[in-house]
Amino acid sequence: MGKATITLLLAACLLSACSTGGNSGNTAKGNEPSPSAAAQPAATAQAAATTEATASPEATPAAAGGGESTATPLPTETTAAEEVPVLYHMNKNYDIVPNDEATNKKVVLLTFDDGPKEAELINPLMDTLDKHKAKAIFFVNGYRVKEHPELLELIHKRGGVLGNHSWDHIVLKDKPEAEVKKQIEDVQTIVKEITGETPHFFRPPHGAGGDVGKKIAAANGMLYMTWSNGSLDWEMKAKDTGKTEKLIANVTSQLHSGSNILMHELPWTVEALDSLLTTLEGKGYSFVDPRSIELKMR
Ligand SMILES: [Zn+2]
Repeated sequence: MGKATITLLLAACLLSACSTGGNSGNTAKGNEPSPSAAAQPAATAQAAATTEATASPEATPAAAGGGESTATPLPTETTAAEEVPVLYHMNKNYDIVPNDEATNKKVVLLTFDDGPKEAELINPLMDTLDKHKAKAIFFVNGYRVKEHPELLELIHKRGGVLGNHSWDHIVLKDKPEAEVKKQIEDVQTIVKEITGETPHFFRPPHGAGGDVGKKIAAANGMLYMTWSNGSLDWEMKAKDTGKTEKLIANVTSQLHSGSNILMHELPWTVEALDSLLTTLEGKGYSFVDPRSIELKMR
């Protein structure tokens, strides 16, 4: 494949991000008129997400390769696992809820999908998280990890919590079980090879994992989630003005206790992040450590 082709594919990929399905995103309102959306049962939400996802397929990089995890393992540090008390669980709306009344419920979960892409994005993103003492889940795609194992290692070493976003970023819900299994489990394998750890969280591309995706995520010990607060960063374009203000407005307009905030590894999101986190803190919200969330929905 020529360099120009690769560049085009990358551009297509960047522009479409996770989003197409995302913006339909079950409980990810802001772009959906339904005021009762936040209270939607998961089944309805999932149906909404999957319908949209099918209607707007996203370019899948031809270089994705199908998921053989043949990346060369890098030397990894075995850092002692930090003990994080489990204080929260996820409800059927994909919100984060305290297990008991004594625990702060005014929290949000920060998530970044579709990486790893570039150290030039990951490092400043991590700098901002560190500044706010915040942890986040990075839902990665296997084909990107295979292309840049060093970037996965960078996220891991800088304290990012890794999540599985399937190998090829395809709509999984109508695929045969064997294919869904491979799409998910090959990511577990390559992340384990590179970091020594397997992801505990799964988010299907386009929010559309279907029953099979849920089953296979559970069989691999992962908590399945879509999101409950979409930043709509995937709808923004480089040439747009006022992206930081728009992103903050998108998140704050849907903000509620336990918001599961969907963002992407995109330049304007990285640029907006410090302001966004400051705004959330100003409204009294804290950032939940993903490791303090139970791995089973209830
Ligand atoms: Zn995605």
